[in-house]
Amino acid sequence: MNFARTSSLVLVLVCFVAAAAAEDTLTFRYNDAETTKSGKVIAQGDSGVILETPDGMMWPILADDLISGKREPGDFQPLDKKALTEKLLAELPPGFEIHETAHYLICYNTSKAYAYWCGSLYERLYRGFVNYWKQRGVELVEPSQPLVAVVFDNKQNYAAYGKEELGDSAGSIIGYYSMHTNRVAMYDLTGADAARAQGSSQRDIARINSILARPEATYLVATIVHEATHQLAYNCGLQVRLADNPVWVSEGLAIYFETPDLSSSRGWRGIGEVNRLRLPQAKRLVQRPGGQLIAQLLIDDDQFRKAETALDAYALAWALNYYLLKRYPDAYCNYLKHLSERKPLHDPPREERLAEFQKYVTSDLTALEADFRKFIAGLR
Ligand SMILES: [Zn+2]
Repeated sequence: MNFARTSSLVLVLVCFVAAAAAEDTLTFRYNDAETTKSGKVIAQGDSGVILETPDGMMWPILADDLISGKREPGDFQPLDKKALTEKLLAELPPGFEIHETAHYLICYNTSKAYAYWCGSLYERLYRGFVNYWKQRGVELVEPSQPLVAVVFDNKQNYAAYGKEELGDSAGSIIGYYSMHTNRVAMYDLTGADAARAQGSSQRDIARINSILARPEATYLVATIVHEATHQLAYNCGLQVRLADNPVWVSEGLAIYFETPDLSSSRGWRGIGEVNRLRLPQAKRLVQRPGGQLIAQLLIDDDQFRKAETALDAYALAWALNYYLLKRYPDAYCNYLKHLSERKPLHDPPREERLAEFQKYVTSDLTALEADFRKFIAGLR
């Protein structure tokens, strides 16, 4: 995010950040309307602050949009499961229900079976994700409140919900994770094929699974797994929301975990497999002579946002994560641990990104580039 200017209000809030047991109430402009929220100021920079509210949302507020702020004694606590459930039901359109799993609140107006299918998919991903990092010496933490997924019955209703954050592009995106709300949103991918039965029997769920296990659905399921992986990374302590997260790390990791495994009811075997959707593109790019692919990935986040370079950037981000996790697992995990200590709003100069990567992984980027290209070109 780019906060533009400073104001005296921000300076007042500097002392806010240091205080422990307090409740901050800020009035600010958001989407052209004035709003007041209470929570905890978790970061402040020259150009604004971030307010975390008990529902798990984070509000990046530009200094220019801050109208007033006050701090009172209080104890910031995230909403517990019951209170969060009530808030979600009050906020979502009529007709929504909530399916509760060990780590998730699945909010749905789909069939019950579809919500159960999502809950089971996400719990298996959760287990796979935590175990994967544990085996590599990265201890994650339990999320501070249940993770929220909002599942719509159809694409139109989902796009209407996503419009505030994504604009009209919501309609062309299958699902997304919002750093602002901390929720993932998606819709029923079975479409017209869906078993519209309201039951949640094993037979109903198995029917959904068999529809989505078809090869033509692989990409759709991969996308919702990808978005759920972002949510896990930001809630289990691997990454910090609204901090300087190099995009190649965030996106490459999400792709690394996205290979769906719908064949098993317990484990998740897809983690760390060669990503068949991205490999051909990655191979083409590493075999094209010239350029410093790695150095470019480390410093240039914009290539992920521009339509003409995004597909290449995603493929390379996957390839570099894959390569580092296979070839330099310890060094890369230490680099990730270092990134996980970042503070929101800290925006280091791009050269710093190169230097810290060199410190944790290898100082010789030229040799690394040559080995990376050879490794990816040789993947089958
Ligand atoms: Zn992503």
